[in-house]
Amino acid sequence: MNKAEILEYLKTDDRLKIQELFARADAARRKYCGDGVLLRGIVEFSSYCQGSCAYCGLNKQNKNTPRYRMTQAEIIQAAGLIRSSGIQTIVLQSGEDPELDPEWLAEIIRALKTKYALSITLSVGEKTRDTYKLWHDAGADRYLLKIETTDAALYERLHPKMSFANRLRCLSDLQELGYQTGSGIIVGLPYQTPEILAGDILFFASRDFDMIGIGPLIPHQATELKDLPRGSVDLTLRCVALTRILTQNAHLPATTALGSLDKDYRLDGLQAGANVLMPNFTPQPYKKNYEIYPGKRCISEPTGQCALCMESLVESIDRYVDFSRGDSLKKVVI
Ligand code: SF4
Repeated sequence: MNKAEILEYLKTDDRLKIQELFARADAARRKYCGDGVLLRGIVEFSSYCQGSCAYCGLNKQNKNTPRYRMTQAEIIQAAGLIRSSGIQTIVLQSGEDPELDPEWLAEIIRALKTKYALSITLSVGEKTRDTYKLWHDAGADRYLLKIETTDAALYERLHPKMSFANRLRCLSDLQELGYQTGSGIIVGLPYQTPEILAGDILFFASRDFDMIGIGPLIPHQATELKDLPRGSVDLTLRCVALTRILTQNAHLPATTALGSLDKDYRLDGLQAGANVLMPNFTPQPYKKNYEIYPGKRCISEPTGQCALCMESLVESIDRYVDFSRGDSLKKVVI
């Protein structure tokens, strides 16, 4: 599909054409990924952040959000719960925590490998190549770093003191070091046009990412985007579908943001090309304090509850939970 065709799908009001797009994406998902829905257990281990991202409630200007950093023992305990739920992938996520000691995290990675043989995904922001290498050598398998938008001017407008070139550098370092690398975007950003979104989708395909997360903007009161409307679910689903068609076998989550709106649109995501869900294993009382956007679903559920709920969610659309590691389908993983 070329840019003009992508734009046609992003701009059309023809519901039949949109339904045809979703059906095409669903068929591609079945062909390249099968009917299994992979589960990744996420642990949001630190809410400290030196970033000022215009859309995120953890931005450093927000003095009203309690900040926490879990201990090594707490993280390892949360990982044990993930493993005992039958899930084989942990996603360790944090803000751009300025006090995050690379060796401290490397120790956790080694411990999780030895104790639980988990597949480890990191999502802790922009670091040096040496730090990425340290963690990869320690056993980290995957890394998520969303590009958010591929329009350099828009990127820098939304990320004060961060550079688009450095974001690209990080993604290149991660891929070169052998991480299964994930990226993604937010749909509904200010000044975002269909042309920019089409460029984002082509970027995903050209970089051959292993994982791509696409979610709608949910404005947070403590950010400068607080008065913006919520990102369109329909447009988000179209982006997921187009990304599936173009990237074929990348792993695409039905994002938690899609499940945190007036209804749970993750099912729609799973039927528009997505094949991954991410149950939250951040323990209380931390879970409710990791508020990147408001209204995040299942925030007061007991830890681990989400995994059970997801099984019934997935079965309701005649799919099944795939408890395998869910490594990249892009290449043979050693
Ligand atoms: S998106 Fe990430 S880096 Fe930006 S403010 Fe939120 S937690 Fe910090």
